[in-house]
Amino acid sequence: MKNWNDLIDKQPIAIKIIKQMLMRERVSHAYLIQGDKGTGKAEIATLLAKSLFCQHRVNGEPCNNCKDCNRIDSGNHPDVHWIKPDGASIKKEQIAYLQKEFTYTGLESKQKVYLISNADRMTTNAANRLLKFLEEPSRQTTAILMTENGQGILDTIKSRCQIISLRPLAIEQIQTQLESDGITPDNARVFAMITQNLAAARALNQDEWFAQARKLVVQLIEVLRTKQEEALLFIQKQWISHFSDRDQLFLGLDLLIYWFKDLIYLQLEESDLVVFQSYLTELEASLRYWTRYDITEILYAIMEARKLIDQNVHPTLVMEQLTLQMQR
Ligand SMILES: [Zn+2]
Repeated sequence: MKNWNDLIDKQPIAIKIIKQMLMRERVSHAYLIQGDKGTGKAEIATLLAKSLFCQHRVNGEPCNNCKDCNRIDSGNHPDVHWIKPDGASIKKEQIAYLQKEFTYTGLESKQKVYLISNADRMTTNAANRLLKFLEEPSRQTTAILMTENGQGILDTIKSRCQIISLRPLAIEQIQTQLESDGITPDNARVFAMITQNLAAARALNQDEWFAQARKLVVQLIEVLRTKQEEALLFIQKQWISHFSDRDQLFLGLDLLIYWFKDLIYLQLEESDLVVFQSYLTELEASLRYWTRYDITEILYAIMEARKLIDQNVHPTLVMEQLTLQMQR
């Protein structure tokens, strides 16, 4: 059971627009809700359907108590149809079936609503069929399309929809979602910070390469701190072979940035903000080794290295130079 007001922190702009539209009774024939995984597409679509049917709506909020609200919540309202990919895609037959169902007037009212999840996964035939359906002079029919990938939707379909764009999740929200998936809090934080995207963060959690990348960062720090003379060899033998393409090199540098930012957070006694939570002992050791001045200089040097990689300077050269700058 949800209200628009429950979602307002997560999607302030979208919810404001929808509520205003409901209160002014200016409902479109079709909506396209687009946003990343976890941004609330299905919640918003369900609430919108309830708001359209509920006879006891107050200030745009459905009552969550009547027969219409209850049946939409439990997924068995006779005039609300929910279409999801059948296997990998949404097929022409699914849209054809919908079209046929919708030629009858609503069972209990004139109104009908259909919702399409992963609307970007319609086959070409399904999309064309839907387009025709959207073009028909409509009865009281409302289409609610949802997608994570707005670019995967035909422009001709988009132009018939009111588009509701959801904002990406904040890092804290991604972190909370990951933790509810069972990922440890410190891993959740690293993944959320690095990807700033829930799906990518989940993928990173499965990624052996990334786990190894993080280990290499911690090892490089240790080599710099305890066996400086081996640092260049470490870069040549281990770092460059692991961070072998451009994106990987950037990621390696980003991880180094997080490490040195963590040192600053620890100095400021803001340990909640620390990304490398599981390496607190190592961080403390780093903090005894590098001064506050060193840390600032190193952060500048890493940013500079990022620029050089971007300008296609040879990665080994960039990393060797950076390693020398990080030594005391
Ligand atoms: Zn109701």
